[in-house]
Amino acid sequence: MSAPAHNVHEDVAAYALGVLDEEEHQAFEQHLLSCEKCQVELRELSEVPDLLDALRERRSDALSEDRTSH
Ligand SMILES: [Zn+2]
Repeated sequence: MSAPAHNVHEDVAAYALGVLDEEEHQAFEQHLLSCEKCQVELRELSEVPDLLDALRERRSDALSEDRTSH
């Protein structure tokens, strides 16, 4: 028996991070065209950096407010 097939759905995070080999990258893009699940996942993953930036901005706002109210 061969090892279980590589689960292509799990490549979505690596794809979003841009760490796939060229061959895997192309294979995943082909998969992405026909996989709604991965399209949704990819969109959610690509929103994460924006969320982190928003949180960081809010925190530095709070810090400067603290300083001025003193
Ligand atoms: Zn998929």
